[in-house]
Amino acid sequence: MKITIVGAGYVGLVSGACFADFGHDVTCVDKDDAKISALSDGIMPIYEPGLDALVAKNAGADRLNFSTDLVTAVAAADVVFIAVGTPSRRGDGHADLSYVYAASSEIADALTGFTVMATKSTVPVGTGDEIERIIKERNPKADCVVASNPEFLREGAAIEDFKHPDRIVVGIEDERARGPMTELYRPIYLNQGPLVFTSRRTAELIKYASNSFLAMKITFINEMADLSEAIGANVQDVARVIGLDKRIGSKFLNSGPGFGGSCFPKDAVALVKTANDYDRPLKLVETTIAVNERRKRNMASKIIDAMGGEVRGKRIGLLGLTFKPNTDDMRDAPSIAIAQTLNGEGAQISAFDPEGMAQAELELPFLNYCNSAYSAAQDADALVIVTEWDQFRALDFTRLKTLMKTPLLIDLRNIYRRSEIEPFGFKYRCVGRPGEEIA
Ligand code: NAD
Repeated sequence: MKITIVGAGYVGLVSGACFADFGHDVTCVDKDDAKISALSDGIMPIYEPGLDALVAKNAGADRLNFSTDLVTAVAAADVVFIAVGTPSRRGDGHADLSYVYAASSEIADALTGFTVMATKSTVPVGTGDEIERIIKERNPKADCVVASNPEFLREGAAIEDFKHPDRIVVGIEDERARGPMTELYRPIYLNQGPLVFTSRRTAELIKYASNSFLAMKITFINEMADLSEAIGANVQDVARVIGLDKRIGSKFLNSGPGFGGSCFPKDAVALVKTANDYDRPLKLVETTIAVNERRKRNMASKIIDAMGGEVRGKRIGLLGLTFKPNTDDMRDAPSIAIAQTLNGEGAQISAFDPEGMAQAELELPFLNYCNSAYSAAQDADALVIVTEWDQFRALDFTRLKTLMKTPLLIDLRNIYRRSEIEPFGFKYRCVGRPGEEIA
C-alpha cells in the first residue's frame, strides 16, 4: 500500500519506518526543511534506539522516502496519516489543534482518488468530525473517509511497541475505511496484535483514557511512597506485591519524581478540559494533575532537606534530565521543575544526561553541562539520580567518593539499595523506602 505520513516527529517517523519495514511504500512529509534534508542524509532528528538502522534499511530499499512536497505525496497515497503535534494550548490547556487543522486543509486540497485519512496525533473527541467538515468544505468532490488511529508507542521502546502492540485501535464512521486499515496492519495482527474497530469518537477517547489512567497509576504509587516514608513502610515492596494481583498489574508502579514527557501531562489536562466542556468533570484526573505538579517541586524540597535545609552556594550534580531513559525528549521532564527550584535557591548545578543535553540546554541554560556522571559529581555536595539511565545503575562509588565534596546520593528512582551504598561511606536518600536510607 502507498502511505503518506504528515509530520515526521517521534510518532510520524517511527510509524513510517515500521510501516515501510512491513513492506508498505511510505513517504514521510514534514514542513521542516532542515529535518527532511537531514533525514534524507540518514541523520535522525531524535534519539530513539534502533531507529537510525531501521530508517537506513528501508530508505535503502526505496520503501521509505522523505519529502516536503505534501501535494505529490498525498495525491499518490491510499492512506494519509496526520502525525503532527498537539501541544497544550497556551492559556487554557486545551489541545492546540491548529497544526492538525492546517495539515487537514493542505491534505484536503491535494486529495485524488479514494483515500483514507487517519489521525495518529492525539486529538480530543470530535476532532475527526471537524476534519471531515474541513475536507467537505475545501474539496467537496474528494472521495475520502476519516478514521482515528491513535498511537500508543512509548519513547525509548517505540519500534518494539509499534511492531508488537498490545492493541491497535481504529475508529471509523464509514465502513470503507475498514479494508485499507486492516490491510495496513495485517503484518501485526497476524502476529497476534489485536486490531479493534470502534466508532471514531470512541477511539479518540480511548487514547486519552489510556494515558490518564497510567498517569493516575503513577500518581497513586507516588502518594503511597509519601505515606510509606511517614509510616516506615517500603513502597517498592508495596508496589511489587500489589502488582502481583492481575487486576492491578505490575507496570507503572515505580515511584519517583512524578510523570512527565510529551504525552501524559498535556493529555491529562486536555481530557479534563473536554470533560468540563461536556459538564462531566473528571475529579480523579484533576487530582492526578495537581498532585503530580506538586510532587515535582516536593522533589526539590527533598533534595534541599537532605542537604541540611540550605543549598545556597552548594554544588549539586544531577544525573539524567530527560523524562525517562532512552530518549532525548525533555518535554515536561520533572528535571525542569527540580533544576529551576534548586537554581532559584542559589545552588550551583552540574548535570549529565547521555542523550538529552542538547534539548535540556534550551530549557535549562543555567546548568553546567558535563560529559559524564563523574564530571557532574566533581566537588558536589550531593549527587541526584533524576532519570534511571542504565549507565547510572552501576556507578563506581569509590571513584565518586574521591570526587565529591560530600558523599551524599539522592536516588529519586530507587535504583540502589542500602546494602550496595553503605560499604562506600555514602549517605543515601531515596523515595518511599525509609528503611533503605543512610543518615
Ligand atoms: P513532534 O513534535 O515530534 O512532531 C510533529 C512534526 O509535525 C514536526 O516535525 C512538525 O514540523 C511537523 N508538522 C507540523 N505541522 C505540519 C504540517 N502542516 N505539514 C507537515 N509537517 C508538519 O510530535 P510527536 O511527539 O511525534 O507527536 C505527534 C502526535 O502524536 C501528538 O499528538 C502526540 O500527542 C501524539 N503521540 C506522541 C507520542 C510520543 O511518544 N511522542 C506517543 C503517542 C502519541
